[in-house]
Amino acid sequence: MTLSIPFDNSYARLPDRFHARLDPKPVAAPRLVRLNTALAEQLGIDPEALANPEGLAMLAGNAAPPGAEPLAQAYAGHQFGHFVPQLGDGRACLLGEVIGRDGIRRDIQLKGSGTTPFSRAGDGRAALGPVLREYLVSEAMAALGVPTTRTLAAVTTGEPVWRETRLPGAVLTRIASSHIRVGTFQYFAARGDTEAVRLLADHAIARHYPDAAGADNPYSAFLDAVIAAQAELVARWLLIGFIHGVMNTDNCAISGETIDYGPCAFMDEYDPATVFSSIDHGGRYAYGNQPRIAQWNLARLAETLLPLLGADEDSSMAAAREALSAFAPRFETAYRTGLRRKIGLTTEREGDDALTEDFLALLAADRVDFTLAFRGLSDPASARTLFADGAAFDAWAGRWRSRLAAQPGGADAAYGVMQAANPAFIPRNHLVEAALSAATEQSDFAPFEALLDVLSRPYQGDPAMAAYARGPREEERVLQTFCGT
Ligand code: AMP
Ligand code: MG
Repeated sequence: MTLSIPFDNSYARLPDRFHARLDPKPVAAPRLVRLNTALAEQLGIDPEALANPEGLAMLAGNAAPPGAEPLAQAYAGHQFGHFVPQLGDGRACLLGEVIGRDGIRRDIQLKGSGTTPFSRAGDGRAALGPVLREYLVSEAMAALGVPTTRTLAAVTTGEPVWRETRLPGAVLTRIASSHIRVGTFQYFAARGDTEAVRLLADHAIARHYPDAAGADNPYSAFLDAVIAAQAELVARWLLIGFIHGVMNTDNCAISGETIDYGPCAFMDEYDPATVFSSIDHGGRYAYGNQPRIAQWNLARLAETLLPLLGADEDSSMAAAREALSAFAPRFETAYRTGLRRKIGLTTEREGDDALTEDFLALLAADRVDFTLAFRGLSDPASARTLFADGAAFDAWAGRWRSRLAAQPGGADAAYGVMQAANPAFIPRNHLVEAALSAATEQSDFAPFEALLDVLSRPYQGDPAMAAYARGPREEERVLQTFCGT
């Protein structure tokens, strides 16, 4: 079986200032840890060929396959609110694009594939732990139904990387509908290169928002579409308790996919102020701050598009302001609709928002596990045991039951809706940490495999898998997560 990848590269056709061409840097002794065969098939790539030596050579960065045009992308970004005019792929390499069986164009990118002209002081490499973390969480997000980049493969390199200690090195193959970020627009805008901003916007419109091309002002329609996609995305995050952890503008994808799984984490007990990232001292990227930050990032995107939005400064500013004003209502609608589904409501009535908000207030007051509480509502007697204040839960549940009775199909109709909206299994921090430490410290990949398997069916409850559903015991609690770069 020879490896044949139907590359169809479009980013490489953009002018030279968009990227730096370079080959990935070979590694000593590549070994395949995990291949995502279903994703390979979706991309139209033969998984058997990917698993053979030629495929492994590609996934490790040892040999670029025919048709690849490897490059590192240029981008800038606001990191924790501070603008850095040049970041770029410092340890990633875009091999090229393929059009999948579903007709969607996607990037194939290696992460951890060696230094590039954008590496600055970094080594261009990735450690096994963060690679497996991205594999687990990105694939869990996909199974949860959240737009996300995917993971095609993880390989170990046979070479160490040095962080605080010596760690096994690895390369991840990331699949994304593109790697264009808010920071990519910022890179050109910061250089006053309006022509490049226009070319990039045209490219992004063609790839992600083709309908915008026919609008009176395509750039304005493009901005509207990105704002809508991000508002929907952040609502999805909140509804499953996801905390991205590094919502810098370079980690904000124009496509509306979740990208860059660094210190991300899932919240156990409900508390909007929850932060796990070791570098997020101010709580800028706390769970409940994410909508506000997404809007801030989108304002940075709007700024880069100003020269394209109107005939003069005033009309451009007015257009940007109007576009940005759509974020909050769009987010609120998506979030509130999602919350209603989480408590099984199939219709919308006055008082529903108070009902969902009061439930969240109960969770916050008793520090109840967010995922267990919502999933538990399908079996209210068991949900009640999660609350220290049983009477308060009963009072709320009484109101909830009468509300359910007032909808077509009554409480029965609610059950299926709740099962589809409330995952039983999420990549809980303590499970992820346990899987990563077994792999990196004992070369035992069984916990990683088992967890990946459970996370591929997050909405199917399974009593045999109860150990994966429960929250952390006191001694298992993860207090901090690290980007590991
Ligand atoms: P991230 O924190 O992964 O969003 O990365 C922020 C910036 O740092 C990007 O420009 C990365 O390419 C770069 N970077 C992260 N880790 C490394 C590394 N090990 N070597 C070189 N550059 C890196
Ligand atoms: Mg990044």
